[in-house]
Amino acid sequence: MKIGITGGGIAGLTAAYRLQKAGHSVELFEKDTQLGGLARSFDFAGAKLDIFYRHIFTSDLPVIDLIEELGLKQDLLWLESKMGFYHKGVMYPFSTPMDILFRFKALSFIDRVRVGLMSVYLTRVNKWEKYEKITCKEWVEKYVGGRVYEVVWGPLLEQKFGDMADKIAMTWLYGRIHSRIASRSGGGLKEYLGYLKGSYQKMIDTLEAAVVKAGGVIHKGDGVNKVIMENGKAAGLSTQSGAHKFDAVILTCAPAIVSKIADFGSAEYNANITKLRYVGAMALVMRMKKSLSPVYWLNVAEKDSPFVCVVEQTNYVPKEWYGGDSVVYIGKYLPTDSELYKMENEGVKNTFFKYLKKIFPEFNESDVLEWKINREPFSQPVVEKEYSKIKPDYKTPVPGLYMANMAMIYPEDRGMAYSVRLGNEVAAVINTAK
Ligand SMILES: Cc1cc2nc3c(=O)[nH]c(=O)nc-3n(C[C@H](O)[C@H](O)[C@H](O)COP(=O)(O)OP(=O)(O)OC[C@H]3O[C@@H](n4cnc5c(N)ncnc54)[C@H](O)[C@@H]3O)c2cc1C
Repeated sequence: MKIGITGGGIAGLTAAYRLQKAGHSVELFEKDTQLGGLARSFDFAGAKLDIFYRHIFTSDLPVIDLIEELGLKQDLLWLESKMGFYHKGVMYPFSTPMDILFRFKALSFIDRVRVGLMSVYLTRVNKWEKYEKITCKEWVEKYVGGRVYEVVWGPLLEQKFGDMADKIAMTWLYGRIHSRIASRSGGGLKEYLGYLKGSYQKMIDTLEAAVVKAGGVIHKGDGVNKVIMENGKAAGLSTQSGAHKFDAVILTCAPAIVSKIADFGSAEYNANITKLRYVGAMALVMRMKKSLSPVYWLNVAEKDSPFVCVVEQTNYVPKEWYGGDSVVYIGKYLPTDSELYKMENEGVKNTFFKYLKKIFPEFNESDVLEWKINREPFSQPVVEKEYSKIKPDYKTPVPGLYMANMAMIYPEDRGMAYSVRLGNEVAAVINTAK
């Protein structure tokens, strides 16, 4: 079959790789001039650096398997990571169960025990369906305690989902905790996270090369405007470079874009797509003369903070990769119509640096050698109660038209492993289609 794919992120590239290998003839269209989508890299500090902080868990098997299959196993390093939690002017270590039990004084001892029990419980339970009908807020307040929600989960959810925080289904938190704890070893005392030396762009580039070597065609900087229909079937893609005929079409772009380029011929289905919402993400990345934070990942659980995390890449991977300097991300999730998302770079930098000084009084802007801001509008699906009722399937009502985007990752939270899974699965569905 001739197959057209919209989107050159991990899902689109994996689907292209699988389908081309299975003997189909694939053409992929990416609107940007660079492949990789949310997982792409840019040139920074003399190296390739992911646009957003990036690691994988030992439980992320689909992406680990793909990395190995592509011959990159030697570049996948498992490095110990350290976490912290900033609350009301204090930075608490937050890496191990011992840290939480004995050092996290933001909560009473009883509440700390409850936090620990909550993680153990959610890791053991395998039935996510029961968390569909209750929000994180309702569940945590009811079973773990109001104070735990107020100090830990409430601020983090607000930082991630803004005014939709109270609506997020417990399935989302379950999915996150489940995969995270499964990644621990040594009785949970240490956490090892996987990083691909040379950045995850290496995986993207290797996938691209494998698709092209097998005879596939990749068009960069050639966005899709419309799915071409003929006799009620998907028959091709209209792109910036013209019309391209296909027997089947896959859409891996966000639902907001899907709505614009495809008509599914069913008012109900079209309306359902518009219910699948995402929030945007933004990260200030800076190269510094000296280290800023004592940990790799610092959660900033303060409602008044303009960002949610401070991620010091060089507390996780060697500084030598970046010429011996420290590399730090300051991350934020936010709606794309928010003031901060629309603010020009200098304003964002000043807003972030002002609060950074509050957390790290010794922070001095003169130590910042270089900085850049990356923004992406479709970054995190919003998962409300009973999401399984609106989650689309790979097959759409239109014959020959398939969808495989982050809105379909459920009950897990989105991540590269699940985008690889989307690519693998949509390819398998097409391979078995009559
Ligand atoms: C801040 C942040 C941090 C993250 N950290 C991690 C992490 O540590 N570990 C992890 O595993 N995952 C992480 N993720 C998630 C991971 O990046 C995503 O799950 C994954 O990259 C999504 O890949 P995708 O192909 O499904 O979607 P996308 O990467 O969104 O790809 C969709 C592609 O479609 C293209 N496109 C859109 N419209 C059109 C059009 N009209 N025509 C052609 N092309 C189009 C886009 O340009 C894009 O390239 C993070 C995400 C964010 C936002």
